Amino acid sequence: MFDYRTRGQIPQIGQLVVVPFGKRRQVGLVLDIAEYSQLADARLRDIESILPVEPLPDHTLALIRFSSDYYQCPIGQAAFVALPAALRRVRYVGPKPQWQYVLTDAGRELRPDQFPARATIKHKLLEALRAKPVLRRADLLAVSARAAELAESWVREGWLEKYAGTVPSPRSDFRTTAQHELTEEQRNAVDAISAELGSYSPWLLEGITGSGKTEVYFRLIERAATRGLQILLMVPEINLTPQLEERFRERFPDLRLVSLHSNLAEGERCANWLAARAGEVQVVIGTRLSIFTPLPQLGLIIVDEEQDGSFKQQEGLRYSARDLAIYYARQRRVPVILGSATPSLETYHNARSNRFGHLHLSRRPAATRAPIKLVDVREMAKGQSISDQVLQGIGARHERGEQSLVFLNRRGFAPALVCNACGWNAGCSRCSARLVWHLRDAVLRCHYCGHQERLPRACPSCGNQDLKGLGQGTQHLEQLLCERFPDARVLRIDRDSTRRKHAWHTMQDDIRRQRVDILVGTQMLAKGHDFPKLTLVVVVNPDSALFSTDFRAGERLFQQLMQVSGRAGRADLAGEVLIQTQFPEHPLYQALVRQDYRSFAEELLDERRLAGFPPFVYQALLRADSQSESALMEFLDYAAGNLGTGHEAVTVYDPVPATVSKIAGHHRGHLLVQSASRTELQRFLSEWRLFLTRRKPSRVRWSLDVDPIEL
Ligand SMILES: [Zn+2]
Ligand SMILES: [Zn+2]
Repeated sequence: MFDYRTRGQIPQIGQLVVVPFGKRRQVGLVLDIAEYSQLADARLRDIESILPVEPLPDHTLALIRFSSDYYQCPIGQAAFVALPAALRRVRYVGPKPQWQYVLTDAGRELRPDQFPARATIKHKLLEALRAKPVLRRADLLAVSARAAELAESWVREGWLEKYAGTVPSPRSDFRTTAQHELTEEQRNAVDAISAELGSYSPWLLEGITGSGKTEVYFRLIERAATRGLQILLMVPEINLTPQLEERFRERFPDLRLVSLHSNLAEGERCANWLAARAGEVQVVIGTRLSIFTPLPQLGLIIVDEEQDGSFKQQEGLRYSARDLAIYYARQRRVPVILGSATPSLETYHNARSNRFGHLHLSRRPAATRAPIKLVDVREMAKGQSISDQVLQGIGARHERGEQSLVFLNRRGFAPALVCNACGWNAGCSRCSARLVWHLRDAVLRCHYCGHQERLPRACPSCGNQDLKGLGQGTQHLEQLLCERFPDARVLRIDRDSTRRKHAWHTMQDDIRRQRVDILVGTQMLAKGHDFPKLTLVVVVNPDSALFSTDFRAGERLFQQLMQVSGRAGRADLAGEVLIQTQFPEHPLYQALVRQDYRSFAEELLDERRLAGFPPFVYQALLRADSQSESALMEFLDYAAGNLGTGHEAVTVYDPVPATVSKIAGHHRGHLLVQSASRTELQRFLSEWRLFLTRRKPSRVRWSLDVDPIEL
């Protein structure tokens, strides 16, 4: 926080102002207004101007403050995340406000005889306001050339309220198109949650793909919107918002809806944000950043696929939008729904211990579940990467004109280049990572720093000319499938192939129109997309996650496999899922075959309780990096050795190098701290942060990650 002096017009708390900052000018957020500053008068600088934006409402400011405190991040950085980029520019001129005037309660009490008979403009204005509840500038001009001035003075008297844009009027007259009959479970869910509209209540809505979660959302949104309330619906992936928007507009043709995510053009995002802020839209669909949208009439928050890692921001303000949604719902006294087929263990634990209401949609009304089968790869011939059973399955689908998806786990092996003679493998010179072999461009590329080099002709270490690829990437699979099914149309979908703008959109269209027979892809394909002719899902190499050092790896693998399995089969076409594994007896796969997340989750929770992992403890990670390895370790040792006193409830582990210990020439390490008490951990972190900030370590960058989801 920084102090500035006001000159002339005094801003309100929550307003955006332009201030000199060092040698530059910047947009600042007014957090407080005080009569005195502790700074000497000579050191105070003036606020230059006020941006033409309505002040942020108190509840948004409170959310920003909370995020800053809880995630141990400077408040300026938190505010930065909360505001659309356009509003952070000193040159912002704003959409020209189209002021509209409405009588307040006090204004409605006004009687004509309160004004002297000769005050004709006052009489005319009051008459006009009684005839028409909302007056625009043009209406005022029709009353008198001086009516606008008068209206402004009535605003100051408290008789009128003015709004930019359209006046928020609760719309209860919107249309809904044909609805499906609800199952009993769906009806129970809708009734239970809508009974809580107007008060804080958190819910876990658990239901597999096709069990009708979206229908429950729609009914609840309808009920909330009927009462003039605004709804925030958060989804994990930007790519899913257009699809959802489309379904929405079909269902509620005149509900006003905007989306908010980082792929929108700056101006559009700002306009959507302002419209939501003004109460002009009823539904906001957005990714994690939409949690900061000021919604004056907020009535309901929905977090779909709440277990998804993308709700956690991994830089700057390292917030979890799901966790903030719960905080915010409590603050605004509204229900919050966390929807998932495979809830995070944190949420599942909260539901099981009755902190959250727990609703379950067990039936998949329109279709049968696709059976999940394991394919034992130990029986495969050496060098074979797709089993005969899988190939036959794909072939059969192709003949019937159905589609198959071959899914490659991102956490699985990326293709690398190795020398079988001396054991050399191609590594990045700037990172402690192996280079990934990109077949198509014949290059080796580092997925951490972007470094790229040509394929060497021979082993740089021993001169062996017969270098081999290890592991598989999507490009290798694509090539293999093309060779095996020469008349099939194979489409690869990964970060490389979808980089061009609209590429992914075009691809989805091709898939729906059946211009594709076999899809090869990574996690982009796992989430939420409905392709009616897709009946076979194959998962190629998920095993590596079973032996990860990350205690969340098993939970994530199960969630991801359930999610991708949900892509197979539709109402009229039976689906099938084949998972290639070396460990078919593993409890994770056994539970997966039974499609029994609950018993698996219970087992994991027992393990975590015994091992002392979240959700039974709270963690934070001090992350640091430096070009100098010794400076890094020195800093982490120093941090570990200076913890302050009175923090017996907090455990501090030894400093360790990060999983990828070097990226782009920067050595990375971290220090884990945890406590069974969230309050104690918070108390410790704020002291520790102050202490570390004061030390100003040279050549080391560091940050705190509260409730980290990745080590
Ligand atoms: Zn070699
Ligand atoms: Zn690199």
